[in-house]
Amino acid sequence: MSSSVLTQPGLKGSGDYVDDVLRLVKAKDPAQPEFHQAVEEVFESLRLVLTRRPEFRAAKILERIVEPERVLMFRVPWFDDHNQVQVNRGFRIQMNSAIGPYKGGLRFHPSVNLGILKFLAFEQVFKNSLTTLPMGGGKGGSDFDPRGKSDNEVMRFCQSFMSELWRHVGQNTDVPAGDIGVGGREIGFLYGQYKRLANEFSGVLTGKGLNWGGSLIRPEATGYGCVYFANEMLKSRKDSLEGKLCLVSGSGNVSQYTVEKLLEFGAKPITMSDSNGVIVDPNGISREKLGWVMELKNVRRGRIQEYAQKFPKAIFLPADSNLDHNQLWNVKADCAFPSATQNEINAKDASTLVKNGVKLVAEGANMPCTLAATRLFLGAGILYGPAKAANAGGVATSGLEMVQDSIRLSWTREEVDDRLHKIMIAVHKTCYETAEEYGTPGNLVNGANIGGFLKVADAMLDQGLV
Ligand code: NDP
Repeated sequence: MSSSVLTQPGLKGSGDYVDDVLRLVKAKDPAQPEFHQAVEEVFESLRLVLTRRPEFRAAKILERIVEPERVLMFRVPWFDDHNQVQVNRGFRIQMNSAIGPYKGGLRFHPSVNLGILKFLAFEQVFKNSLTTLPMGGGKGGSDFDPRGKSDNEVMRFCQSFMSELWRHVGQNTDVPAGDIGVGGREIGFLYGQYKRLANEFSGVLTGKGLNWGGSLIRPEATGYGCVYFANEMLKSRKDSLEGKLCLVSGSGNVSQYTVEKLLEFGAKPITMSDSNGVIVDPNGISREKLGWVMELKNVRRGRIQEYAQKFPKAIFLPADSNLDHNQLWNVKADCAFPSATQNEINAKDASTLVKNGVKLVAEGANMPCTLAATRLFLGAGILYGPAKAANAGGVATSGLEMVQDSIRLSWTREEVDDRLHKIMIAVHKTCYETAEEYGTPGNLVNGANIGGFLKVADAMLDQGLV
């Protein structure tokens, strides 16, 4: 066993293996705070494993698991509608293929950079492992902002992006999907260009249209899955979603279907948001109002502010970057479903939620809570469902889409939904039982991190030093 993991000049080992690897990660890529945050959270849980399984340290599994197998970064030039040249940056992080082809979404958002995509790819490795399906972890995207672009501009961008990406992906190699800013429209343009270049019709992307290889329930899957997971968490305390007041942030794919499933379970969702602000509807966002939001967001591509004009009982709180908190989490409720983006709940938000009596937080978005917020929720003993478990339904259903593509059959809505539901029950069971097994009952963060890690780490040991 090596005495120190630190190979960076000027760094001294502290003698604590986990701390040393974390310091190495930070020293190697100092400008990637989101990646550091994701690694730190997972590593805190893995301490419990490393004392039981010293072979992981000997094989330097931690040092290996934080290092992507491959990172692709490329220029994406395209013409806008005024015939001006635009240039964006494209990425694909192929993080870990120990248990299956790389799998994970593409994010198009101006904030996208290498560190954010590495955090997402890292999380994806453990999440995909938890789904019970054979999928490795990856993530990609671009700093391109689809908001305010015409359909033709989005198409030209997607075609240019895929003109480079196509040679690195494939149904048995790497299967991207959607994420922030990448929905059905973008997947369609990306798929068309892939098919043209590769001269094959294969399941290289998931989230495809229903009449060209897509799966029923894939658009709904992340939101539905998150609510199924929340339901399992509540059941573990002999409680249910019936009648619960719920906060949902965001108004995109995950948020919309979270609201839809909450309504089915008899809960009352009262908020949604976008980057311009929050709407609070004390009467509840009904099925009809949600239908209106879907048309607003998916067809007209408008702003959530319009909700308060359309439904006058609702209020709109504009986003204010001078505030040290997010106003949405000041609203008193029983359950919170952060479904917009990373770090949207900080320590102040978390303590407000706890003071207001929140019983459950289920993460639809990836890493929506800062480390301090996560610790606060765990310390308060509320039900806390971490993203890599609670939002695993999206990628799980992508896995089901891959199966249907491979056997060239389409399952019914009921069949896919039933499989999704069973997978979310299984993910919860793994997290719940693993937390108990490692002496931290109820801590689903430990349960998810350890449960996801073990399968990947054992596969890495089996496959030798690659
Ligand atoms: P969408 O693009 O459909 O929606 C994102 C929503 O979040 C929009 O309302 C958007 O507002 C808001 N938002 C995004 N960034 C910010 C920001 N910086 N500040 C405030 N609001 C913001 O994305 P998805 O619903 O697909 O994804 C939401 C989250 O769920 C992400 O964290 C994603 O990684 C995660 N996720 C998604 C999965 C999927 O299947 N789609 C699977 C698993 C996780 P605006 O339009 O103003 O930007």
